[in-house]
Amino acid sequence: MGSDVNRKAILAFLLVSVILGSTGVVSAQPAPIGKYIAFRDDDVAPFTPIDTLTAVNQVHIDENVPVTLGIIPHPSVAVTGNELLQDSQFLVYMRSIATNQLFEFAQHGYTHVNDRLSSRPSEFAGRPYAQQLELMQNGQDDMKEAFGVTPATFIPPFDTSDNNTLKAAAALGFTYYSTGFGDFRQSYGDGVTIEPASIWIGATNITAFSASIEAAKNATERFLNGPQSGDTFIVAYHVWDFNSANGTFDARKMELLRDYIDYLKTLPDVQFARLNRAQWEGNNVLVALSSMEELSVAPVQQNRLLAFVLVGSVAIAVFGAYAIVLRRRLRRSGRRD
Ligand SMILES: [Zn+2]
Repeated sequence: MGSDVNRKAILAFLLVSVILGSTGVVSAQPAPIGKYIAFRDDDVAPFTPIDTLTAVNQVHIDENVPVTLGIIPHPSVAVTGNELLQDSQFLVYMRSIATNQLFEFAQHGYTHVNDRLSSRPSEFAGRPYAQQLELMQNGQDDMKEAFGVTPATFIPPFDTSDNNTLKAAAALGFTYYSTGFGDFRQSYGDGVTIEPASIWIGATNITAFSASIEAAKNATERFLNGPQSGDTFIVAYHVWDFNSANGTFDARKMELLRDYIDYLKTLPDVQFARLNRAQWEGNNVLVALSSMEELSVAPVQQNRLLAFVLVGSVAIAVFGAYAIVLRRRLRRSGRRD
C-alpha cells in the first residue's frame, strides 16, 4: 500500500517534470515576427562628392542601422574600362566599408542612362533580353573586381524595368530586386524577391526635405498599424539629396535623417534590415534568406536554453526510474529478510 503511494507520487513527479520541461521548450520558441525597416540609398557612384556619401553613411554607423547602397557601376558612358577603379578616393572608401555588415552593396543598373525605349524613363526596359543581360553582367563584373563583392540585390534605375530585366537579374544570381510601385504586380518571380520602395525621403530645399521626413513618419505608422502592409518598409533616398542647391553637403539634412532613425527606434516591434536579408545579423536579429523566418531571440541563447531544458528533463526521468527500481529492490530484500 505504502509502496503504491510512493510509486504514484514518483509517477506524478515525472509527469509534472515533463509538463514543466515542455513548457520551457515552448517559451524558448521565436517571438512573433516583427516588422522591418530597410533603407535604400540610390545613385552611389564614382566621381560624385564623397563627403556627402561618407557623412550620410556615418549616420548609419553611429545609429547601428543598416543601409543598402544602390551603386551605379559605370555612370560615364564615354569612359572605357571599369569606372569603379578610376576614382581612387571613392574606391578606397568603398573598399573600407565593403565588409561592414551595415552596408549592403547593391547594383543600381549599369550606366543609369535613359534608353528612351519605353514610355517611362528606364535604362533597361524595352531592350532585348540579351542586351539587358550583357549590360547587367558588365556592372556585376565591375563590382566584383572593384570591391570583391557579388551583389545580391538589383535596383533598376528610375524604378522602371520589364520582364526581361527581371529574367536577366535571375540569370545572374540576384535574389532581391527593389523597384518602384507598379513595375511588377507580383512580389516574387524567377526565384527573385521583388519589393518596391515604400517611400522616398529628401528634397533639394531644406523645408521640403523636412516635410518629406514628416510624411515618412506618418507612412511608417500606417505601415506598422496596417495588418495587410507586409513585413518590410523600404525607405529610399538619393545620396545627392543631402546636398544643398549649390552641390555642397548640407549637414542639417543629415540631422533630419538621424532624427527620423531615432524616431523609428522609439516604435515598438521595429527591427532594421538590409534589402538582402541574408547574413545580416543585427541586435539579437538573424534573418534567413530563404524562409524569411525572423527570430527575435538570439539563436545561440535559444539553443542553450533548449539544451538545458532537455538535459534537465532526461536527468529527472532517469532519477525517477532509478528511484522506482531502488524502491522495488528494497521491498524485495525486505521480504526475504
Ligand atoms: Zn537612380
